[in-house]
Amino acid sequence: MKAEIIGVGTELLLGQIANTNAQYISRCLAAIGVDVHLHVVVGDNHGRITDAVGGALQRSGAVIVTGGLGPTPDDITREAVAAVTGRLLRREETLVEVIEGIFERLNRDMPTENLRQADLPEGATVIDPEGTAPGFWLEHQNTLLFALPGVPWEMKAMMRKAVVPILVARAGSAVIVSKEVMVVGLGESRTHEIIGDLVDAQTNPTIAYRAGAGVVRVRITAKAADEATAIGLIRPLEEDIRQRLAPHALPGDAGSPGEALGHLLRGRGATVAAAESLTGGALGAELTCTSGSGDYFLGSLVCYSDAAKRDVAGVSDAVLAGPGAVSEEAAAALAEGAAQRLRADLGLATTGVAGPAEQEGKPVGTIFVAATFGGRTEVRRVQGYGDRDHIRALAVTGALDLGRRLLEES
Ligand code: ATP
Ligand code: MG
Repeated sequence: MKAEIIGVGTELLLGQIANTNAQYISRCLAAIGVDVHLHVVVGDNHGRITDAVGGALQRSGAVIVTGGLGPTPDDITREAVAAVTGRLLRREETLVEVIEGIFERLNRDMPTENLRQADLPEGATVIDPEGTAPGFWLEHQNTLLFALPGVPWEMKAMMRKAVVPILVARAGSAVIVSKEVMVVGLGESRTHEIIGDLVDAQTNPTIAYRAGAGVVRVRITAKAADEATAIGLIRPLEEDIRQRLAPHALPGDAGSPGEALGHLLRGRGATVAAAESLTGGALGAELTCTSGSGDYFLGSLVCYSDAAKRDVAGVSDAVLAGPGAVSEEAAAALAEGAAQRLRADLGLATTGVAGPAEQEGKPVGTIFVAATFGGRTEVRRVQGYGDRDHIRALAVTGALDLGRRLLEES
């Protein structure tokens, strides 16, 4: 079954809120094997809502609309759905009682406009309100249409209690399961060179890439009658992909480069410390994202100025005056200084030029990351690009990955 999700609300178009409802609904539908093929957002405008809903009804087996079910005059989803399905609005007396009851329990006077929420297109079935806005669903020319409130917690409860069970009964049960292989240190195109033949050959599972901040996520998605079968389809492909991309693929149980390093450190009973110039604490922040990181993370020295690099991390004047603060030598000295001063087994460091201007004659995007462990120090030069945030994120990922690789090899 194909589905389409329509978000109604001018605030979505203005960018005041993100369309998280569509994300949630997509996940629910994926889990029951319903293929979502379009997300649409329209403002609180009668003509545009009817256009969007009308098109969706023709294209899809299920249409889920959120928003515009409140009591105020800009909430016009009911009217638009009635118009586009050729129905009249009829006041549901049972709903009138329910809505009045809600206000009584809240000990609040009910504005008469709230009774608009008891108006439903003829033939529609009520989805009981969670807050004050009822939802409804109807069938129009073999397409199921669900209208849910925009308020996320109300929408979620209705998805769970009403929409998912109805769709499971209609669509027959199937599940869509995804697994991700995270790849660090290879770009998207290099990754595609290595596994592209698998991508081209597959229909179920399908393989897709998502790249960002030095990580390429290879997502393998299978559709099957049940979860075990879907995982059975994914597993051999995942193994193959992992083998081909090793050592760039993170272990399957890690959700990020920081977590992968954390697992490794915990397994070895080893500790880590960092000295950061370029990333100004972001490396430490990333390492502390994982709960229980206190078992292995000791601290991070933020050494932005040359004086701090010298006084806090012990980088020599010879390095600072010679190759400079943005250099292989400085990165190595920062990593070694962090490990020594914080008495950590693994030392990590970042230095580089985040922009907007070049520094020491080195262009924006120059990044050096370093790692030291057991007397061995490695430096990697990472070519940064994009804006300041992205360059810094690349440095964090690079340092974490270098640390992981060094530990694995030791
Ligand atoms: P209400 O009874 O609260 O008026 P409603 O059905 O009319 O419900 P809206 O007025 O469209 O819903 O939205 C209510 C609130 O829900 C919005 O202010 C926003 O915070 C949130 N919301 C609406 N649509 C979305 C969406 N697509 N994704 C995330 N949040 C949303
Ligand atoms: Mg509203």
